Amino acid sequence: MSRSYDIAIAGAGPAGLAAALYLKRAGHKVTIFERFDKPKPVGSGLILQPTGLTVLADLDLLDDILSLGSRIERLHGTDAHTGRTVLEVRYDARPGRRFGLAVHRAALFGVLYRAAMGEAIAIETNVEVETLETAGRATLVCAKGRRLGPFDLIVDASGARSKLRHHLGDPSTLRPLAYGAFWASLGWRDGFDRSALLQRYDKASIMVGVLPIGRPEHGSQDMAAFFWSLKPADAERVKTEGLEAWKARVISVWPECEAFTGQIDSFEQLSLARYGHHTMGLPAGRRLAVIGDAAHSTSPQLGQGANMALLDAAALSHALARANTIDDALETYASARRWHVRVFQALSRSLTPFYQSDSAALPFLRDRLVAALARVPPGPQFLAAMVAGTVIDPFRRIGLAEFQWPAAG
Ligand SMILES: Cc1cc2nc3c(=O)[nH]c(=O)nc-3n(C[C@H](O)[C@H](O)[C@H](O)COP(=O)(O)OP(=O)(O)OC[C@H]3O[C@@H](n4cnc5c(N)ncnc54)[C@H](O)[C@@H]3O)c2cc1C
Repeated sequence: MSRSYDIAIAGAGPAGLAAALYLKRAGHKVTIFERFDKPKPVGSGLILQPTGLTVLADLDLLDDILSLGSRIERLHGTDAHTGRTVLEVRYDARPGRRFGLAVHRAALFGVLYRAAMGEAIAIETNVEVETLETAGRATLVCAKGRRLGPFDLIVDASGARSKLRHHLGDPSTLRPLAYGAFWASLGWRDGFDRSALLQRYDKASIMVGVLPIGRPEHGSQDMAAFFWSLKPADAERVKTEGLEAWKARVISVWPECEAFTGQIDSFEQLSLARYGHHTMGLPAGRRLAVIGDAAHSTSPQLGQGANMALLDAAALSHALARANTIDDALETYASARRWHVRVFQALSRSLTPFYQSDSAALPFLRDRLVAALARVPPGPQFLAAMVAGTVIDPFRRIGLAEFQWPAAG
């Protein structure tokens, strides 16, 4: 590294915490600004793919996260009416002993946050960043005109609803998607496959999912992320119809899920997740690097968001370590991530309506084509690479080599 910079990071989500760890360890002065009064994880569970796991291994956090998460070998979807398999993706369709690791969000947050505390990274809470000024160095402007800085570089890791990214004049706006989901973290129940994301569909308008997510922290019970696809616009109506009516609907689609709905006593146990899609054309410039959901967000159908956020953090640190100036580093960061982000955003945008939409034709095609594709090579290999996040190599241009899992025994 040619010199040490004074860097502000907006947002203490996976992107912000991972970036802070990389940059602090590279010798920079780092301060995170987070709007919540206490940094905390939002949401239920997610799958760390071989991409995200490689970044965590690079940060020396792999053992920590492995000890909390649940190893996922396959994604399996069935039609609610016929019981027919309409989605089967196995990580081991490709060599490399790959797998996904499903985690409670609190587990991922805890592992990154504890590491940040271990590095004595400064986190200022209750700071809602509004905009920035970049005449000379960069100053963050918060509510009531409070100004922070100046800094050599601002990293925008403030999520899909970032206010800072508009500083780059990017025309992309967050387009709300018609479908979101109710999510809950519930106690794990036997009778479901512990090594799979299981989903059940009725066309594309109904989807129920069960994902084993391990433990939020050591010593706590094993949990499942349980989700029910619905339009956010319909959530109030569903609530008015009552909890028992909703549970009956879930059980009519997947009777065994009574093991999970039986743990729900109130709609307050369910979080309503709204999804939106946007991709910045150029996520860097003018002393600002935009990473994670702030730069690109989408529906979680392909399960790449947190993984791409971790890759962005690694890419930014790698670029800063190699470039002589901040401008060069920002250009290198944007170009290193460009194609991986674009390809996965395009895949997610085009595949989401097959799983969440009012279309009758798309799920009809899905249930025939994807099921067939999953059986005939190179279909299984392609699907495995798509889920793993490696259809296009995300590692080489950001100076990482994929983590190699040792052979068993
Ligand atoms: C229901 C659901 C399921 C998902 N499943 C998966 C999955 O299986 N796999 C996967 O990889 N991804 C999944 N995702 C996507 C994943 O959650 C996101 O891609 C990931 O959290 C992005 O991380 P981030 O750090 O960029 O943003 P966030 O996690 O959104 O963090 C942003 C942080 O910035 C803070 N902040 C926001 N605004 C400001 C401000 N103005 N000033 C200061 N701080 C601010 C927020 O409080 C927050 O702490 C899922 C998402 C949802 C909603």
